[in-house]
Amino acid sequence: MSARMDEDAVVFRGVSKNYGALVALDAIDLRIPRGQSVAILGPNGAGKTTAISLLLGLRSATAGSISVLGGNPCEQAVRARVGAMLQSSGLPEYLRVDEAIALFRSYYPAPLPIDELLALAGLNELARSRIARLSGGQVQRLYFALALCGNPELLVLDEPTVGLDVEARRSLLATISEIAKRGRTVLMSTHYLDEADAIADRVVVIDRGHIIADGTPSEVKGTVGRKRVAFTSRVALDDERFVRNGERYEALTESPESLLRELFARNVEIEELTVTGATLEEAFVALTAGEHRHVA
Ligand code: ATP
Repeated sequence: MSARMDEDAVVFRGVSKNYGALVALDAIDLRIPRGQSVAILGPNGAGKTTAISLLLGLRSATAGSISVLGGNPCEQAVRARVGAMLQSSGLPEYLRVDEAIALFRSYYPAPLPIDELLALAGLNELARSRIARLSGGQVQRLYFALALCGNPELLVLDEPTVGLDVEARRSLLATISEIAKRGRTVLMSTHYLDEADAIADRVVVIDRGHIIADGTPSEVKGTVGRKRVAFTSRVALDDERFVRNGERYEALTESPESLLRELFARNVEIEELTVTGATLEEAFVALTAGEHRHVA
């Protein structure tokens, strides 16, 4: 058992996945050590769900090898140690919340107690409700509880906050952070950069089947190294590098010093100057911008 602790949670070696002529993942190499919380970020069709379904053993790779918790993701013994919350889960609507949780707990050798699962997912009050009666956000929380039933070493979440309102989203993210702090490995795909920033130690950006950035949230921002220069000018500036909003001007630049030097040399009078780091969203847009996106 103790040898398991030395193994990485997930290793992809040269993994490709083709759907007919479409290359959804192209020779991906990825190593996720145990205990890390990782956000997989990318636009629609980037390959996030494909990567997740491969590591859950739901699909097989066209090329390359995948190891999960030191084993083959298709093996039952490995699956029992992984919890997953997928975009397209299906549950019989006539079941009650507590019945669905009891059913899922029965699949695992050492499940978490039902009360703890209900509390973690914020479902205490809904334990005896039928699934048919739940709102979309409540169903998401139930899926989250089901993913945790087996007390998984690796928790995999495919866009878990889709359809949640602001409060439900915040509380689910707080719970995911809590699970990560308990030493679990968490792998979550998302379109939302603020979510990645909030819960992940590491951000892996995928675009059209390639990993285009991999690092801490601040490193990913640093990959682009852009700064936002903002200031007010009473005199109208005719400069297409800036986005103008009334008297306020903003530009993203890799070299704020030379931009400002140039403005001062032109005797542009600026006030209320700020220079700030790009947000993860801006980093992401810059990383994926300017290239034609293949739509299947
Ligand atoms: P989203 O954010 O929209 O969920 P994603 O990053 O999860 O996107 P994938 O679902 O992995 O992306 O899809 C990657 C590419 O593979 C897309 O071009 C998609 O159309 C294609 N694809 C996914 N599943 C299949 C399938 N079963 N058959 C054919 N093509 C598929």
